[in-house]
Amino acid sequence: RFITLEGTEGVGKSTNLRFIESVLQQHQINYKLTREPGGTPMAEEVRELLLANRSEQVADDAELLLVFAARAQHLERVIRPTLETGSWVLCDRFTDATFAYQGGGRGLSKDMIAQLEAVVQRGLQPDLTILLDLPVEIGLARARERGELDRFENERLGFFERVREAYLDRANADPQRFAVIDASGTLEQVQQQISEVLECYLQK
Ligand code: C5P
Repeated sequence: RFITLEGTEGVGKSTNLRFIESVLQQHQINYKLTREPGGTPMAEEVRELLLANRSEQVADDAELLLVFAARAQHLERVIRPTLETGSWVLCDRFTDATFAYQGGGRGLSKDMIAQLEAVVQRGLQPDLTILLDLPVEIGLARARERGELDRFENERLGFFERVREAYLDRANADPQRFAVIDASGTLEQVQQQISEVLECYLQK
């Protein structure tokens, strides 16, 4: 099975990823942890390209194609082979992030993203996507406290509002796959929700 974790900046993705791992370990599930953009040496190089601060502005569609180039490599070299061995894959961000950041944030056409998704994924979709949702101001304040907003210092609040909305649109369009977690509570409250979602999912 293929599980993905999504959310905007400062929602607590890293901490909760470790929590998800601990639940899988308790259940003695064999899984591979990976991430996007990245997950293979080549795809990690693309990640560095994408996240680098440079004077040359990257065209939005160039960014989109780089994200999907990295994803194609990641799928071919890591995700598909791992799933074929019967192991689970836990991925920190996947294509929903592209619909959110490049679609919602940058305003690229969802149809174009869906076409690339079809080419690269050939029908493969996550079985469960956990979306950590938080009002943008709270997430940005948390991320700012940790000095994590370099790449986005020029982005306006509106960018992140559109990213969040696009994530929620994705979740509403596919409630079977998505579990939306209210990440505004305490860590205990958030982990309680995640735990319920996973326990329910593991029964299936
Ligand atoms: O998951 P993580 O927060 O480490 O991702 C690194 C950065 O890449 C984030 O700031 C995220 O906003 C950005 N990103 C992006 N487009 C994607 C995936 C991630 O701009 N498709």
